[in-house]
Amino acid sequence: MKIVVVNLGRIVSGNWREPFMSGDTIVTNGDRIVRVGTASAAEVEAADVVIDADGMTAIPGLIDSHVHITFGDYTPRQRTVGYLESYLHGGTTTAISASEVHVPGRPRDPEGVKALALAAQRCFAEYRPGGMRVIAGSVILEPGLTLRDFEELAARGVTLAKAGFGAVKTAYDYVPLVEAAKAAGLITTCHTGGSSIPGSGAITGDHLLAMRPHVAFHINGGPTAMPDADFERVIAESDIALQVCTAGNLRTTLLCAKLADKLGAFDRFIIATDTPTGSGVMPLGMLYTIAHCASLTGLPAERFICAASGSNARVYKLDSGVLAPGKAADIVLLDAPDGGTQSSALAAIQHGDIAAIGAVITAGVPRFVGRSRNTPATMRKARVVRSTVMQDFAAPAH
Ligand SMILES: [Zn+2]
Repeated sequence: MKIVVVNLGRIVSGNWREPFMSGDTIVTNGDRIVRVGTASAAEVEAADVVIDADGMTAIPGLIDSHVHITFGDYTPRQRTVGYLESYLHGGTTTAISASEVHVPGRPRDPEGVKALALAAQRCFAEYRPGGMRVIAGSVILEPGLTLRDFEELAARGVTLAKAGFGAVKTAYDYVPLVEAAKAAGLITTCHTGGSSIPGSGAITGDHLLAMRPHVAFHINGGPTAMPDADFERVIAESDIALQVCTAGNLRTTLLCAKLADKLGAFDRFIIATDTPTGSGVMPLGMLYTIAHCASLTGLPAERFICAASGSNARVYKLDSGVLAPGKAADIVLLDAPDGGTQSSALAAIQHGDIAAIGAVITAGVPRFVGRSRNTPATMRKARVVRSTVMQDFAAPAH
């Protein structure tokens, strides 16, 4: 399918260092972006679907780098079916598994956690709930796993490893496990802060600096934060990515954002939700954290959109999160919410409002155009002005 989105008011790139792109058009072909900025008359003529954005803002599809994936579009923790499709209506086009630790009765032995990670990776390799891309299969680091195990998993397509829920005596026991997982080429992630499940101890700055995972999961606390003094140490003494999560401590999220800005570490500041968990299913979690960060730190809204898209893509080595030729055609149209006081998506976010979503495209397919079933209505009205495909792009009414 070829799509042309015309009449964009603003284009946010996904790269926080150069957050805006000029022009008013995006062209896609198949699951890739072909051009950003302008389109020739011939390209518009050749498109299967032309979407008039009515002056809205285009952003890259958001990447939630902390989702508690299990199997299918189902969360056992909150007994909810269809939550991933619901997140897509909140602008999230990619969900990255925080390990399949919520699978009821999940295995705890090396063979079992390897099989679980591989099965999860395979189950989501082709399956896109509601159009959502899911990067699943994060091996839970348990004592007894060896470099050979990690190499075997990596060779079979698993890309992630998670420290924090294993049967270790102290968090320092993760140091050789993280080292081996990194040596095998896995992206390593680690629980940060107070324990979220009974029996697991707190993980603080000393542990992170000894382990040096690629990503400190919910560095703001998941949900309980580590000592304030540890934020500056982790930022200054390591290159660990600083993942802040909606379902955590808001005060330390803001502390971390300001420190990352001040210490020149904003490349490593990434946004996620850490849901569904005890905090619930949060389809608008990414939009909330973007709005909280922008409105309460005073840093520009577009920076946090990029932290929730392109920065996650860079840390997790994904081909999405940026609006540029050759990248995945995952695009969200944002606008000021109808009835608010602001007149554009970015102004609304800066003001602390939740931006409204007017369309979501993933893998080059419009998943809906018009009204998200979860955000307020948009001020402007995106619509399909021409389509040669037998598909109605309206979101199902609720
Ligand atoms: Zn989590």
